[in-house]
Amino acid sequence: MSTGTLVDQPDMPTMACPACHINVPAGIFCGRCGAHLTPERGDGPYWLRIRNHAAAPGEHVLRPSLPSSLLPHLPQRSRTPFRFGLVAVLLALVGFTLLKLPAAMIAVAALGGPLLFLIYLREADAFRDLPARLLLFAVVIGLGLGVVWVTLTGAAVARSYGVPLEAGIAGTRLVRQGIVIPLASTLLMLVSAAVARLLRPPTRESLDGFMIGALGALAFTAAATLTRLAPQLPMGVVARTRPLEGLLVEAVLRGVAVPLTAAALGGLIGAAVWFTPPAIASDQRRRIVSAVTALFAVTVLAVYAVVGLADVAGLPQLTQLGIHLAVTLLAVLILRIGLHLALLHEAHDPPTGEPLLCPRCDQVVPDMAFCPACGVATRASSRSSRRARRLSRPVRDEAVPAAPGSAVPDLRPGYSVPPGVYRAAAVHRASYTRVLGTWCGSMAVLAAALVGIAALVTQLPVKYQCPPKCGRPPIGATISTNPRFTAPGGEFSVSYPAEGSAYTITTTAQGVTARYVAGDTGTMQLFSQPAGNRTPQEIATALIKKSFPDARTAYVIPNAMVGYQPGYGEVADSWPQGTNSSYVQMRIMVLVAVKDELALIAYAVGPYHQFGPTFGPGPPSGANLELAQDLGKYVNSFSWRGDPPR
Ligand SMILES: [Zn+2]
Ligand SMILES: [Zn+2]
Repeated sequence: MSTGTLVDQPDMPTMACPACHINVPAGIFCGRCGAHLTPERGDGPYWLRIRNHAAAPGEHVLRPSLPSSLLPHLPQRSRTPFRFGLVAVLLALVGFTLLKLPAAMIAVAALGGPLLFLIYLREADAFRDLPARLLLFAVVIGLGLGVVWVTLTGAAVARSYGVPLEAGIAGTRLVRQGIVIPLASTLLMLVSAAVARLLRPPTRESLDGFMIGALGALAFTAAATLTRLAPQLPMGVVARTRPLEGLLVEAVLRGVAVPLTAAALGGLIGAAVWFTPPAIASDQRRRIVSAVTALFAVTVLAVYAVVGLADVAGLPQLTQLGIHLAVTLLAVLILRIGLHLALLHEAHDPPTGEPLLCPRCDQVVPDMAFCPACGVATRASSRSSRRARRLSRPVRDEAVPAAPGSAVPDLRPGYSVPPGVYRAAAVHRASYTRVLGTWCGSMAVLAAALVGIAALVTQLPVKYQCPPKCGRPPIGATISTNPRFTAPGGEFSVSYPAEGSAYTITTTAQGVTARYVAGDTGTMQLFSQPAGNRTPQEIATALIKKSFPDARTAYVIPNAMVGYQPGYGEVADSWPQGTNSSYVQMRIMVLVAVKDELALIAYAVGPYHQFGPTFGPGPPSGANLELAQDLGKYVNSFSWRGDPPR
């Protein structure tokens, strides 16, 4: 019976594995290759084993479960406190948002997820099993790259929000903001896993790579989120002006979608670069593994391109959030499949066949690559846990006869487990106090620290002292020196800024687009549109809605005029959302007047910048947009066909 048997235990019933054709201990799964010993319909190919995840017994590989996908080391009973941990992150995010405490919300968004992952690493014995320098290295590289990346690209990204109305997304901008920046950021996020691997870590288990990769990626996103937040801190502890919906979308996007996607993709890449095939792997298996790895790499990059394009497409923020969450789910799913395949096909600990307690199903099973009872990979448990369980193996109680030929599920009746095994790190249960207590305590300290910093650096409301702080008196700017645009059919004409160091100009049949490249940057547009029986207000609202679907009106400009024709003017605010977005509030100003069925429109957009005695036109103004100072003279220079010359 024991010809070719891997495990030579005299009383152990064996059977031939249909996948690897070797006699293995009888059970539900092959302890050597993990295949189902009595395959059923719907199991799929042996190498896939789709109905039983290698780290989550009894769970389908495609089941979209966050805890078992992101916390592969933990047995089922230890995942529940982390489930509550995820709920705590969400509750804190929503709670701080409803209280309009952006500093506290950002603390949770940036650090809540990573903190929970650190607690998981402690429960997964990472601090015992992995060298401290390796973990520290991943964190430091991730943090450093995150800060450098945001510092380098922040201004470029913020500048890109000053989009012209109605222009659609220009091709170059689409490529740069929608593809190049997100892809570069993804590659940087994944760098720490690859670099840590070059340090020749002492172990080559894929779950070690998962932990390092996810940690590095989380450090990257945490640093990036905090660096983007920094300029927002002086705006105040409490966000009074921002609409609640935008804050909620931002909270969920930054605190849930971004860190989960980062952890999933970072962990996946880590597992891939740590993966070691067994010495005797067949060529077919190697080919499958290479093909799957390549497929995953392409998917990861495609996923980030989708997110990047969704961020620049000018979609309503709820749609944008929906796309981000769908992408997060996809990332978690490919992590889940990736870890499952890695655990099934990587090199395993040498099998001894001696009795071992399986921490997932609590059965005493022969010590092999897979648990013959529940099919979980032995390497899905931490090295500390395996060591502890191998040091105090279950002992045979001679009084109880072994059940001959017993297949499932009690593979080794008559064994008892030394009580010490349960007390040791081997099979303990993660306690609610340890997980939730640590998270809540640390999070409270971090959030309080950030709120404190925000309170310290908050700018006080500007106080004018008139005189002498009213600034210079308004001087009528001479517009005669400016070039003048006349529509091809002569329907209207308008002056526009001269091309130079401050502006780059493009003209079309409809009008002029001036990109302001100095100072705060921004875009100014002076153009026409058929009125189509709409009022100036309807035209302005439609234009804003199209380019900034979630903009909120700040105020309506009283007595607005375009080319001395009474019309409608509005100042609105928009807060861009997205993975690579900055926390820059954009200010939009639109003025429209209609005459002879032709609407003439003046528009400016740029970063919000509070006017005060040292910045702005001098006298108090609510415009708070640098370009607005310049826009006025061009608004007055509009003239329709047949207007008297001015
Ligand atoms: Zn087998
Ligand atoms: Zn088991």
